[in-house]
Amino acid sequence: MPALHHIAQTVVAIADGRVFPVRRVHCVGRNYADHAKEMGGSGRAAPFFFAKPADAVVPVAEGGVGRVPYPPRTADLHHEVELVVAIGRPGSDIAVGDALAHVFGYATGVDLTRRDLQADLKKKGQPWEMAKAFDHSAPIGPLHAAASCGHPAAGAISLSVNGAERQHGDLADMIWSVPEVIAELSTYLELRPGDLIFTGTPAGVGPLERGDRVVAAIAGLGSLAFSIA
Ligand code: MN
Repeated sequence: MPALHHIAQTVVAIADGRVFPVRRVHCVGRNYADHAKEMGGSGRAAPFFFAKPADAVVPVAEGGVGRVPYPPRTADLHHEVELVVAIGRPGSDIAVGDALAHVFGYATGVDLTRRDLQADLKKKGQPWEMAKAFDHSAPIGPLHAAASCGHPAAGAISLSVNGAERQHGDLADMIWSVPEVIAELSTYLELRPGDLIFTGTPAGVGPLERGDRVVAAIAGLGSLAFSIA
């Protein structure tokens, strides 16, 4: 009999010292026009959803440096800096105007992607899952409660590798705003407390190598640092 009681609950630190138990990790694809274009799209198509398992989350404390092992089955691991929304109140078919009342808070996250595998799966018309939902594929910084940081609708979102800026965008450039993401996603499934939503990345995604030091930042939410081991 396996030791089922040893299965750990993933938790993300909240800046006030509490912890946020993670239930599911939802992700939005192509939610910034400039990134949709760099991925070969028109930049005008509707975004879409995919998911990662909760235990793909790598929680990184404020001021700490997370450690992400370079994953197997890829030679083209890419970074995607994203605003992460944490859900604190359940709901289905949530109206855009009610959506922010379902938000517990926000964090900076990186959607790590096996880009070569993704391209191969796309070509074959197969699910993206193994390109996105792998171990350690979702580093995330501490959550900031909306009660203290508000609901960021604009502001800089950026990522640097070894001190050189690779991605720079503005939250205002999301195709689906945070309320629209929540409303749309909640028509497909019930959102529950503990759900995280990665809301998409601006342009400038690119490869990471072993030994790289990544720093991702969103205005008002501090920064997230990790290294590729
Ligand atoms: Mn992404």
